[in-house]
Amino acid sequence: MDSGVNKNWSSGDEKLLLDTIDHWVENEVKPIAREHDQEDKYPEELVERMKELGLFGSTISPEYGGLGLPASIYAKIVTRLSSVWIVPGGIFNTHLVMAAAIERCGMEAQKQEWLPKMASGELRGGIALTEPDAGTDLQSIRTRADRNEKGYLLNGTKMWITNALHGNCLMVLAKTDLTAQPAHKGMSAFLCHKGAGYDVAKKLKKMGYRAIDTCELTLDNKQVVPEALLGGEEGRGLQQVLGGLELGRINVAARGAGMAEGALKMAVRYAQERETFGKPIAEHQAIQLKLADMATKVEASKLLVESAATKLDTGQRCDMEAGMAKYFASEAGVYCAQEAMRIFGGNSYSTEYEIERFYRDSMLMCIGEGTNELQQIIVAKQLIQRNKI
Ligand SMILES: Cc1cc2nc3c(=O)[nH]c(=O)nc-3n(C[C@H](O)[C@H](O)[C@H](O)COP(=O)(O)OP(=O)(O)OC[C@H]3O[C@@H](n4cnc5c(N)ncnc54)[C@H](O)[C@@H]3O)c2cc1C
Repeated sequence: MDSGVNKNWSSGDEKLLLDTIDHWVENEVKPIAREHDQEDKYPEELVERMKELGLFGSTISPEYGGLGLPASIYAKIVTRLSSVWIVPGGIFNTHLVMAAAIERCGMEAQKQEWLPKMASGELRGGIALTEPDAGTDLQSIRTRADRNEKGYLLNGTKMWITNALHGNCLMVLAKTDLTAQPAHKGMSAFLCHKGAGYDVAKKLKKMGYRAIDTCELTLDNKQVVPEALLGGEEGRGLQQVLGGLELGRINVAARGAGMAEGALKMAVRYAQERETFGKPIAEHQAIQLKLADMATKVEASKLLVESAATKLDTGQRCDMEAGMAKYFASEAGVYCAQEAMRIFGGNSYSTEYEIERFYRDSMLMCIGEGTNELQQIIVAKQLIQRNKI
């Protein structure tokens, strides 16, 4: 985010943008979320609107056609959207992680070729890192890119890749040197178009985070041009991917905070409507304790997100802070969804209510963009490194 961010967003601009987002979320996202989730149907109509709103270019710098939003404003958009439905944000989140890697690490020709089309939403992408046998341990991926006279020949399988079916491009992590030690020195990132660089083998069926496409990919003798290699230099792929993870983690944290807030809002309302023993359940102390815990976690999550985002925007180191925000806010999302389920009682199980969707969707934030176990390890390592005796 340090390059490409337009620091000139005034508080007036910010307010106008966030009001527009609120209006869109309330009037266009909220009414369709449940049906699309239940039918596992991709929200095409929202994609068109997201193009108009400029969301596919949110964090891409203006010189390449984006809005150049700082992470702090971007995170607020993501939180607001996720408080109603997590899926639309997913459509532009990993897309922007790919765009950020291009802007940070790409050659100028790659930036010119990819970023304006990504900012407009003509190209919609994501990141293809995970494989059937490698997720957290990315250095053990098996996808290979063998150099030949025409560029690189890609072979392998990718798993759990979001935006693969309805998007049209991906950044693919592969090994250009199978024997490199350490293994990351033999890893490279490739900018690939669907069909030319990979094929979708199947769309995966998921418990939650439905309506957005998450797929298994096959890369079967896919020939890509030399210009597909991000940054034009082999052996830098893992660094290029990991270099963007702070923004990615703030992003997931913002989604967790949004889900926590959405679940809280529903619970606060329901607790005042539902009566037992002659009074609204909100007047029972057991329910009040839950609401207080939920509200505190929501507030803390938003503050952690804001603090990490502000550090990123001002060029300060924020690996530990982004990890803390991701860990805390995603757990808060799960906690609040679960507590809201209890407050809704039997109705929580009905698909007539929205809360069961939050319950199913929230767990993903603890897994994606580095599992929470990994975040804890990152936070602990940083803590020790920054406080060496
Ligand atoms: C809906 C969905 C969408 C996704 N979208 C994408 C996408 O767009 N692109 C993409 O590349 N990937 C995507 N993923 C994959 C996701 O990033 C991985 O699932 C995640 O990184 C975890 O990897 P894994 O599933 O292989 O788990 P594993 O790495 O097998 O981990 C299993 C467990 O072991 C723990 N663990 C592993 N190593 C350690 C360690 N060193 N110390 C302590 N604990 C450890 C983990 O925390 C976890 O609890 C998606 C996943 C899902 C479910």
